[in-house]
Amino acid sequence: MSLIRYEVVDRTGVITLDRADKANAQTPPMLDELDDAWMRAAKDDAVRVIVLRAEGKHFSAGHDITASRDAALDREGGAAATPTAGGNGSGSLRGDPSFPDWNEGGLASIWEWESERYLGYTRKWRDVRKPSIAAVQGQCIAGGLMLCWPCDLIIASEDARFSDPVVRMGIGGVEYHGHTWEFGARKAKELLFTGQAIDAAEAHRLGMVNRVVTRDRLDAEVMELAAQIGQMDPFGLAQAKRAVNQTIDVMGFYTALQSVFDIHQTGHGNALSRVGYPIMVDLDAMKAAQDKR
Ligand code: ZN
Repeated sequence: MSLIRYEVVDRTGVITLDRADKANAQTPPMLDELDDAWMRAAKDDAVRVIVLRAEGKHFSAGHDITASRDAALDREGGAAATPTAGGNGSGSLRGDPSFPDWNEGGLASIWEWESERYLGYTRKWRDVRKPSIAAVQGQCIAGGLMLCWPCDLIIASEDARFSDPVVRMGIGGVEYHGHTWEFGARKAKELLFTGQAIDAAEAHRLGMVNRVVTRDRLDAEVMELAAQIGQMDPFGLAQAKRAVNQTIDVMGFYTALQSVFDIHQTGHGNALSRVGYPIMVDLDAMKAAQDKR
């Protein structure tokens, strides 16, 4: 089942998150498909600009941990794991490429897996040598930020909300630390400490969002902007993008990303050692809820 759509409209490669019934929560296969679409757009000479948009009410509810949670509960002696798009439903993560088996591989397996699919993909998309624009509506939570932040421009509709509430799970922020660069140090701390969302207007004021438009204008505005940018010389665009990215990399963005990713992993390690699961959750309460289902 395809969770990503890809089409080329004039000179614009349009990638669509197509899991609206789950608020575009990201399963591992969905991320692999998304990466394929990015790489297709990157390599296609007919594509000058890349647009990332989402079907439905919300841009993305973040990473979908249903499969890994059910497998963990199953190992704890819970009911049979629920088959999901991201898991094999057997309850064992062994042989399932969706998530690492941390019982077997420990924190090292999580570090490696997230290096590739979370930090790795996000950084790869950010470095594609073509301009990219994200169109964001509704909720954009935690891992959702890791889809729009790597884009060069972000257009939001008035109903957009951005948040990273993972401190509640004992983690200091998502795998890709854009926070400090996107919001500034104080606002980044406030948003992480409280887990609260900012709306489109505030994201615009902070410079995280380029433009705010009405929901019904979102797609049209993004496609018009993409068409306008697509008229420019492709090499000039690539060099302009590199000039800006290289500048913030020299300021420390790239090296900060790597070291904050390792800080993130200590959150998983701490949770693993305390509750046997990579985030601080109450496994007993989740097991009770699962048994009820
Ligand atoms: Zn993580």
